[in-house]
Amino acid sequence: MTQGRDQLSRLGWDEGFAAAFDAIAEPDLQPARVGVEHNHLYRVYTAVSEPLASVAGRLKHNAVGASSLPAVGDWVAIRPSTEGPAQIRAILPRRTCFSRKSAGNVTTQQVVAANIDTVFLVSGLDGDFNLRRIERYLVAASQSGAMPVVILNKADLATDVEEAVRTVRASAPDVPIHTTSCEDKRGIEALLGYLEGGRTIALLGSSGVGKSSIINRLLGYDRQQTRTVRQNDKRGRHTTVHRELLLHPRDGVIIDTPGMRELRLWDTERALEATFDDVDALAVGCRFRDCRHRTEPGCAVRQAVTDGKLSADRLAHYLQLGDERVGLQQRRDELAQLTDKQRVQGVHRAPRQVPKR
Ligand code: GDP
Ligand code: ZN
Repeated sequence: MTQGRDQLSRLGWDEGFAAAFDAIAEPDLQPARVGVEHNHLYRVYTAVSEPLASVAGRLKHNAVGASSLPAVGDWVAIRPSTEGPAQIRAILPRRTCFSRKSAGNVTTQQVVAANIDTVFLVSGLDGDFNLRRIERYLVAASQSGAMPVVILNKADLATDVEEAVRTVRASAPDVPIHTTSCEDKRGIEALLGYLEGGRTIALLGSSGVGKSSIINRLLGYDRQQTRTVRQNDKRGRHTTVHRELLLHPRDGVIIDTPGMRELRLWDTERALEATFDDVDALAVGCRFRDCRHRTEPGCAVRQAVTDGKLSADRLAHYLQLGDERVGLQQRRDELAQLTDKQRVQGVHRAPRQVPKR
């Protein structure tokens, strides 16, 4: 049992999740973490094994929006089965969560990954470097609740590493910045600290910036050779599925799921406040309280640009994100007009939807 406990904490289990789990008044449940989903079957990790699991009928029924279905990284309560897959009875409240808009018109949220503690926002210093993109990733990170860390990779190819660091720091003063190279391994060791204590990380960044290489360096082995698991689908056929939740040999969890590469803005509202504190602080001085910082007289934000206290680029980016926010707000207003029942269910309600016995 001691060993089992250890395995759970290596996966990120802690007192908070244990309390949420204990609050579910149902017998014969075990905690497990979702490793990958494939054809509505989930590979989950428990203290002692890696069973397949399917979603309990009741939980599935309640899943109006896909947000109440399990996602990679979720902690779930399963009921083991001797024949067939285990049953996922409840999703424990998510601490953090990356989601994206589902395809189609309705603004439903699809959870891409859950319970990520730290997200590495990776750029390459080989010409990929783009401050706007980093700011977009910061917005996504802020929405998710995960702590952002900027990684400037391919430092071996950079012409001026320090200049890139300064540029990011000016835009995001409170965010840790690391420069790394998967070629000469500089900066990689420092990243291991984010995995300590069984914590979970994930990586965001364009294709080709070196996310897979960083993962391999962190793991200490080449994942290409070990990344797949064989899985039985419902009809008993063998299929090959990429592992999306990787247990670090020493400590911590790395989540690497394709969905993280297709993230869109979902709710920039909260994120805007978090990432543009400087603009918000300036806006207090605008003559009009609802100033949009475009053509209004007495606009303290535009004045700050004139005075060189705020970069014109940064204001332009702020305004652009603001426009997207208005579009999202309109779609959410439409959504609010749906009946209560149709509305997307809050993930925090999931555990209480489990029928009590
Ligand atoms: P991903 O698409 O973000 O997962 O990127 P990959 O890890 O597949 O890397 C894309 C390419 O960049 C590969 O050819 C890597 O060998 C190369 N690469 C990754 N990191 C570095 C680095 O730090 N320096 C250099 N010079 N090349 C790198
Ligand atoms: Zn203004």
